[in-house]
Amino acid sequence: MTLRTGYVYHELFGWHDTGTNTGFFPSDPARGLQPSLNYENAETKKRIHELIVVSGLIDHLTRVPARHATNDELLLVHPQSYLTSLKKVSEQPLGGDAGDGETPLAKGGYEIGTMAVGAVTALAQSIMAGDVDNGYALVRPPGHHAVKSGGMGYCLFSNLGIAISVLKKEHPGIRIAVVDWDVHHGNGTQDIFYDDPDVLSISLHQDRLYPRNSGGREERGTGAGINTNINIPLPAGTGNGGYIYAFEQVVKPALLKFKPDLIAVASGFDSSVYDPLGRMMITAEGYSKLTSILMECAAATAKNRLLIAHEGGYNAIYSPFCGLFVLQELSGVKKLEDPFNHTDNYPGQALYPHQKVEIDAAAELVKDVTH
Ligand code: ZN
Repeated sequence: MTLRTGYVYHELFGWHDTGTNTGFFPSDPARGLQPSLNYENAETKKRIHELIVVSGLIDHLTRVPARHATNDELLLVHPQSYLTSLKKVSEQPLGGDAGDGETPLAKGGYEIGTMAVGAVTALAQSIMAGDVDNGYALVRPPGHHAVKSGGMGYCLFSNLGIAISVLKKEHPGIRIAVVDWDVHHGNGTQDIFYDDPDVLSISLHQDRLYPRNSGGREERGTGAGINTNINIPLPAGTGNGGYIYAFEQVVKPALLKFKPDLIAVASGFDSSVYDPLGRMMITAEGYSKLTSILMECAAATAKNRLLIAHEGGYNAIYSPFCGLFVLQELSGVKKLEDPFNHTDNYPGQALYPHQKVEIDAAAELVKDVTH
């Protein structure tokens, strides 16, 4: 069966200006810190979009128009006090920061952020309306680190958190699962739905990379939401073998037990083999395989509904192939091979014993997941 795949992107996402710094510090000549383009810049995402167009895959996708999120939608997750203060920052001639010193925005960044939220929400609504079966929202800025109280880690708003909250309002009783394969912990999604029994949040991430003190297996939800939060911290160096094992042993059984009506994905390609910020080794083919496992789960429990929202990914040369491969899998249309072709010959892609120990420990959490 061919599925209809939605796709949303807007050129405005490339205009979110994060300026310069030196990696994770403000540049500072006295300390030898030379200014350079922020890791989180427009290039990677622009080039993913361009490859989707140039490869011809775009002709097989259903374009879903981006829109701005409304203030009422933003308020489903974030307090008005944060929205007001961020808007004030966004109105300054030189912009400012969302609060943690690592989340810069230039003038007008607020409205670009609301369009990222609105784009994910519009795609989610198209999927629920049956206009498309699955889809990819290629948005910027990312969202999975933004907590209820505000932005952090390059994220102004919780794009997926708000989209899910809108669906919960429009479809009372709906159950949604989020799978986060970004190399960093999906702490924002966890924070927003920690006590919510109707949202299962699963994050696979490089152990304690960012945020430093979050993402452990012991963080399992609270109150009515107990056992609806699963963290799968993985050792640095985990490749396709480890990720596929984690999907087969933890993600898939958890989804099949929870039986969501929609599966959402926080899709960061900073878990790819060439990323400058992560130390993981997923290839384009690997993301394709992970997508296919989630499609199987979506077919089994969620009428094929699979909503993928873009998060991190900082290698401008390789991320486009990762994005293309996910969309090729979603749509069932293959346009290009991975010219790097490292799936078969890149070393270290097997499941290693020290990875298996961690994943098997996470698999123990699945027994407490209920429908
Ligand atoms: Zn990330």
